[in-house]
Amino acid sequence: MSTTVAKKVKVRFAPSPTGDLHVGNIRTALFDWAYARHTGGTFLFRIEDTDTTRVTDEYINAAIDTLKWLGLDWDEGPEVGGENGPYLQSQRLDIYAHWAAKFIEQKDAYHCYCTPEELEAVREAQRAANVAPGYNGHCRDLTADQIAEYKGLGRGAVVRMRMPDGSTTFNDLIRGEMAFDHKFVPDFVMVRADGSPLYTLAVAVDDVLMKVTHVLRGEDLLSSTPRQIRVYQAMGLAIEDYPVFAHLPFVMGADNAKLSKRNGEVSIAWYRDKGFLPEAICNYLALLGWSPGEDRENVTMKELCELFTVEKVNSSPARFDMKKLEAINGDKIRALTIDEFLTWALPFLIKAGVITGAPEEIALVKRALPIIQERIIMFSEVPAMLNFLFVKNFEVATDSLSKVIDSAAKEVLKRALKELEPISDWTHSSIEAALRASLIDEMGLKPRIAFGAVRIATTGSTISPPLFESMELLGKEASLARISGALTL
Ligand code: GLU
Repeated sequence: MSTTVAKKVKVRFAPSPTGDLHVGNIRTALFDWAYARHTGGTFLFRIEDTDTTRVTDEYINAAIDTLKWLGLDWDEGPEVGGENGPYLQSQRLDIYAHWAAKFIEQKDAYHCYCTPEELEAVREAQRAANVAPGYNGHCRDLTADQIAEYKGLGRGAVVRMRMPDGSTTFNDLIRGEMAFDHKFVPDFVMVRADGSPLYTLAVAVDDVLMKVTHVLRGEDLLSSTPRQIRVYQAMGLAIEDYPVFAHLPFVMGADNAKLSKRNGEVSIAWYRDKGFLPEAICNYLALLGWSPGEDRENVTMKELCELFTVEKVNSSPARFDMKKLEAINGDKIRALTIDEFLTWALPFLIKAGVITGAPEEIALVKRALPIIQERIIMFSEVPAMLNFLFVKNFEVATDSLSKVIDSAAKEVLKRALKELEPISDWTHSSIEAALRASLIDEMGLKPRIAFGAVRIATTGSTISPPLFESMELLGKEASLARISGALTL
């Protein structure tokens, strides 16, 4: 009787940080992480930085920081280490060189001396003959004399993997059986003439050596899979040990083109600067290709880990919807406690120069936050909403008021001042009662007109948090001083 022991899942996120991580990268990282957490497996984080001209230390550090900020903690990788390190490919070059040499020795790979001009001529001929483009196998079986001749000419050589005739099939967990005819998968370069490895070699060697069991990644990498499987074969890996693939659907912009800088905001750093919560970003990205079911749109990180399975990922492209992300962010902001809200909002207020961070300022912000919590969708809106409470020289701000405060508005303000002066308990309800009785009931004004004038005079803006609460927070002295100031305009 044979028993199969299910292997412990190990998933990896392996970006090449050539810029800030973007929405597509993070959706992949999130699904990798959620699958690892759902299965009780391992989440491995590897930096694919063999293209040193495009991957910089700054981007690597930013990638690490972004994952941490999002709460996507990894069990193996940069900073935390692990038994399969190093986790930066630039520190593993000798490993790739070892395997490339072995593949040549086994005759799975060979040196190719073709020049770029010769390769271009081959492509040209293929185009003319209307056949699939690709390497024609010219250097597959060079004789010793031919090699000596090329070397004598001072030609450099790349290393190419030999693709046998036939095809590669594999079962994609999202797409089902995938078959690639090798007619369309020509012998591919895996080491450049300068000895540096290419992606296909490094990614496959690392997935094997790091014992990755599941490769969940973007659909754009689907066509590289038969080449990676070819590397597994050359490494002598048994078929049952090949990682299982799951290619996640593309993320499209509203215009149905692939999401990019051109048709949407893709950089996670941008969302962070705008004041989106990491949990809202993860919640929204989780819905791009996956669903918790029952038409639900709000999931916590914990629920995501409980519910996420690859089988439920859809193969059709997902469309990025900024409005939905904003709505989810607004919901998550409303669910924060005031102390949590304060912690998130303070850096935005300090950065915008609204407050310096003094204790009395923080105390006032804390009192003000409940009145704006219902009203914002991102933290970057907080400074403009609360600025009126802290603006030192309100005369400057009232400069612009002269345009809005006309003589009719002045009548309103005069009356408001008269009614507000005697109030001794300066609360939003006594302010409201006094203003309603006089301006609305007695003067017969429309609330929009009456309160609009008072709003501009006290907060300097036509959009502000609820008026009476704002005036309570501002205090009696400052409120009356501002209304008096407006009357002099
Ligand atoms: N480093 C590759 C990239 O950023 C992804 C590797 C993979 O997931 O296979 O495009």
